Amino acid sequence: MADRDGFIWYDGKLVPWREATTHVLTHSLHYGLSVFEGVRAYNTVSGTAIFRLKEHTDRLFNSAHIYMMQIPYSREQIMEAQKEVVRANKLESCYLRPIAFYGSEKMGISTRGATVHVAIAAWPWGAYLGEAALEQGIRIKTSSFARAHVNSIMPRAKLAATYANSILANLEATQDGYDEALLLDTEGFVAEGAGENLFVVKDGVIYEPEIAAALTGITRASIIALAAELGYEVKSRRLTRDDIYIADEAFFTGTAAEVTPIRELDNRTIGAGKRGPITAKLQALFFDVVNGKVPAHAEWLTAV
Ligand code: PMP
Repeated sequence: MADRDGFIWYDGKLVPWREATTHVLTHSLHYGLSVFEGVRAYNTVSGTAIFRLKEHTDRLFNSAHIYMMQIPYSREQIMEAQKEVVRANKLESCYLRPIAFYGSEKMGISTRGATVHVAIAAWPWGAYLGEAALEQGIRIKTSSFARAHVNSIMPRAKLAATYANSILANLEATQDGYDEALLLDTEGFVAEGAGENLFVVKDGVIYEPEIAAALTGITRASIIALAAELGYEVKSRRLTRDDIYIADEAFFTGTAAEVTPIRELDNRTIGAGKRGPITAKLQALFFDVVNGKVPAHAEWLTAV
């Protein structure tokens, strides 16, 4: 991250940005076991607010629980700390990155005897796949790398090690000139993007792949709720890559990616090859909700 002024919450204290460092023998750096979150705060009509703070904090603790990591703070403390970081950095809107990791007391695979540290950083971060992507949609490619089997890297946890697989897929796709990768599971069914969940629209019905080898996205949950409120049926199905080729519309969801239309998969145009009408409606409503422009779902926004 670029050198900057500001503060990072680190083990219970606000530490100047440049001093929030860790030792090279940090256990998590060597073995990949750290759990983290990606959260956004929006500059809503009634001030800065964090979107779905409780759900993100719960997922962080669930990720830690899955990997038998004891976070030495309560959920309330971690929620309060996230608000504090946004305030301390005087950010109107931002991305937040809470992370829990093992320290440098020991080497060797066992985590016994390693202390758990927690850091929370926040910085401004615009549209993850670019502003144009939100309007025009992106071109994606099916990755030659499969999402890990559910008994290999457990998908309910947002675990650093998962992202080695995401990075391989993203590098492959972007080096070949695509915007993002689509990963299949080890059986060949659609799982998710490198850092996004997927939806398709066919004949007015919205489908998502059955969430097995994929993260249970919080943006995804929000979109499912909003779609139902708009009167759309949302079905979970095993999807194949060619289900997407013949879909009318497709889009990714994620905290960073928000709602990003997909216009092409594997060089096949999806629908009209641009943001579809149902995607556009959901995207507009999503941005209205996160920016507090509509009264619905005020409970998803926590003022800082
Ligand atoms: N899948 C993966 C692999 C991700 O990294 C993300 C981003 N956290 C998502 C899906 C979307 O999850 P969310 O909507 O909770 O950000």
